[in-house]
Amino acid sequence: MLADRLKTLAPSPTLAMQARAKAMRAQGINVISFGAGEPDFDTPARIKEAAIRALQGGQTKYTEVGGIPELRAAVCHKLKRDQGLDYTPDEVVVSCGAKHTLYNIVMALVNPGDEVLIPSPYWVSYPEQVRLLGGAPVAVPTLESTGFDLDPAELRRAVTPRTKLIILDSPGNPTGAVFSPEALGEVARLAVERDLWVVSDECYEALTYEGRHVSIATLTPEVKARTLVVNTCSKAYAMTGWRIGYAAGPKAIIKAMTDVQSQVTSNPTSIAQWAAVEALTGPQDEVAKMVGEFDRRRRVIVEGLNAVPGVSCVMPKGAFYAFPNVSGLFGRRHKGGVLRGSADVCAFLLDEARIATVAGVDFGSDAHIRLSYATGLETIKEGLSRMDAAVRSLEG
Ligand code: PMP
Ligand code: GLU
Repeated sequence: MLADRLKTLAPSPTLAMQARAKAMRAQGINVISFGAGEPDFDTPARIKEAAIRALQGGQTKYTEVGGIPELRAAVCHKLKRDQGLDYTPDEVVVSCGAKHTLYNIVMALVNPGDEVLIPSPYWVSYPEQVRLLGGAPVAVPTLESTGFDLDPAELRRAVTPRTKLIILDSPGNPTGAVFSPEALGEVARLAVERDLWVVSDECYEALTYEGRHVSIATLTPEVKARTLVVNTCSKAYAMTGWRIGYAAGPKAIIKAMTDVQSQVTSNPTSIAQWAAVEALTGPQDEVAKMVGEFDRRRRVIVEGLNAVPGVSCVMPKGAFYAFPNVSGLFGRRHKGGVLRGSADVCAFLLDEARIATVAGVDFGSDAHIRLSYATGLETIKEGLSRMDAAVRSLEG
């Protein structure tokens, strides 16, 4: 019955784990969720007020497909203010979340059979989107020992005549890696030399705790001309439910993405767009407050994870995920069986410790699991103590 392209499609495991934890809670089970990559903070009041004003002012109709001119101008303002990047509004398209933006990019650039290089561990949706459109995702490993920094030599080795695109994600989900400017510089040279397109997913740019977030598009005009900078209001402004993401890049690709959008979704929600204008152009002090809080949680969770026997965790430099190595637990036994991989560890933690995490195998590394620390400090401490007790109860 279903189309062939559905045969390989895996539904989003991050969203699935979030749904599972929610369903368990609805049954009265006390689950601590480290599953969702979603800030626990509320959307700042000034942003909600802008939405209310838009609603009351009658901004309830279709808008320009790629976003209202005010929002595209606000995106240009933000990219200049935070990254020093110059774009004009016709080089910007706004979509229903960055996930939608990324899908539009793959639609606009990737032909069936084209290869897309994705540094691994990677966010779950990149390879699925590429596969859905007939492209071939190619995972290019990064090393835990470098804090999962980009490995330009591995990327260079992976390039073939079919390579069309490289997807960079920094600060990264699930590793929290912030790619070094040196590695980015080499990848920029590679892209220009081998005529590749670059997606720079900067959704977690505001959540950088160590080092400096550098957009590859700032390195040279040549690489900027072949880069799509992607960002979202979801993370920095705690606006996951509003669904506003955007891309800036060469006019021809932005136009193609907008044309796709004109046939598939039309504009993102008009009211959310007005809220996003306020998010991007208004005072940015709530962002700094959230970053301070995430940073505190980051230290607590990484310290707690490293204290669990058989678990080790590198300090992430950005985003809000810890990505501990749990391979030290493989082969250990509990009453439900033997832990043989990251999915077993996650199932064990959910059943025994009542904590929801996501298996690393879904992100391209079966040695790891992912914990989102976008949840309160006390909850994190309680979750860690449950995890520690469950792991200590393992046999073998
Ligand atoms: N990129 C990365 C790396 C993500 O983790 C996410 C998920 N939050 C997104 C893009 C998409 O975010 P949204 O669709 O909410 O803008
Ligand atoms: N990106 C977040 C995560 O990885 C939210 C869920 C999703 O969009 O997949 O958890």
